[in-house]
Amino acid sequence: MFTTLVAAVPAKTKTAGYGATSASAPLAPFSFARREPLPQDVQIEVLYCGVCHSDLHTVRNEWNNATFPVVPGHEIVGRVTAVGSDVKRFKVGDLAAVGCMVDSCRTCANCKAGLEQYCDVAFVGTYNSPDKHLGGMTYGGYSKSIVVDEYFVLHVPDKTNLAGVAPLLCAGITTYSPLRHWKVSKGQKVGIVGLGGLGHMGVKLANAMGAHVVLFTTSPNKKEDAQRLGAHEVVVSKNQKEMDRHLGSFDFILDTVSAPHDLNAYLTLIKRDGTLTLVGAPPQPPTIEVFNLIFKRRQLAGSLIGGIPETQEMLDFCAKHKLTSDVEVIPIQKINEAYERMLRSDVKYRFVIDMASL
Ligand code: NAP
Ligand code: ZN
Ligand code: ZN
Repeated sequence: MFTTLVAAVPAKTKTAGYGATSASAPLAPFSFARREPLPQDVQIEVLYCGVCHSDLHTVRNEWNNATFPVVPGHEIVGRVTAVGSDVKRFKVGDLAAVGCMVDSCRTCANCKAGLEQYCDVAFVGTYNSPDKHLGGMTYGGYSKSIVVDEYFVLHVPDKTNLAGVAPLLCAGITTYSPLRHWKVSKGQKVGIVGLGGLGHMGVKLANAMGAHVVLFTTSPNKKEDAQRLGAHEVVVSKNQKEMDRHLGSFDFILDTVSAPHDLNAYLTLIKRDGTLTLVGAPPQPPTIEVFNLIFKRRQLAGSLIGGIPETQEMLDFCAKHKLTSDVEVIPIQKINEAYERMLRSDVKYRFVIDMASL
């Protein structure tokens, strides 16, 4: 007699989505299997999914880590359509949200600290990560439905503007987490570099935390919007005179830029013991002038999304402060056009797909 050592593959159902079959292919209709909910799973009908620049980096394989086909999307808000027998925090009909992660080891020190994004084994991304249940890779939120372990599903406290909530699941938490970690608060001077999806949330959040917020942009036409969103000052970064006025004056700068640019220009704006934190992830490595770190003991750091407890904290903070993302809702058929506009910095300030269009 033989006993099988292979874990049982769960039952599957088909779902419709949009995916790319290669780095040079446009996103196009793609249907694939989702698992039927296991005891700890929540099945969600996707209502809205935000469009993150990381989706574009991955679909075009700019980080050299894509396994095709890729179904992107990790800013998901939807409604619960089924729950497994062990699920306690969600019931059918509830609103639910999913961000950048759908699993992690749950046992390492980082997972135990609620910092699953830094899991020592590796967190499982909502897309483009190995899928331990069905084999192949995980598929994201550019789809009609998704099945996620309850631990990685968030509650949506703001029930009024679901399209505006969706981008909080990546753009919101990716800016909230470093602002909190570096203790941004009243009386501090804080810079946000780039007014895109992440940047505009950074401006809103830093303002709500009480900081004096300066937005750096390459797009002079975004000046008025930046002020409306909560920036106290706006600097066009190509204007050296405007930059020089801020030399050595910042406690903290958060850089959200998606393309190569000169980090030294921002390091010199930081005061003693201040920090420049990168969340933007251009594929090319930057050049750092070491003296810009040595003088004034400045620090250069990075930050990755945020853990599950902090993501819930951020959603609650945003609901309390009435913060949502400024969005342009699009049908999924416009997704390739939206990517081209994102590359031209022509986003105000996050595209969100209305999944009813699929
Ligand atoms: P986005 O909406 O496209 O915004 C990026 C902004 O950067 C643009 O709107 C533009 O702002 C500025 N920019 C673009 N090209 C530039 C250039 N050549 N020089 C200077 N500035 C330029 O992108 P996003 O969705 O916010 O994502 C931003 C980056 O963060 C991406 O690399 C993404 O992969 C990364 N990301 C990282 C994490 C993390 O965990 N660390 C999470 C999510 C996303 P202005 O017009 O104002 O200059
Ligand atoms: Zn993202
Ligand atoms: Zn772990």
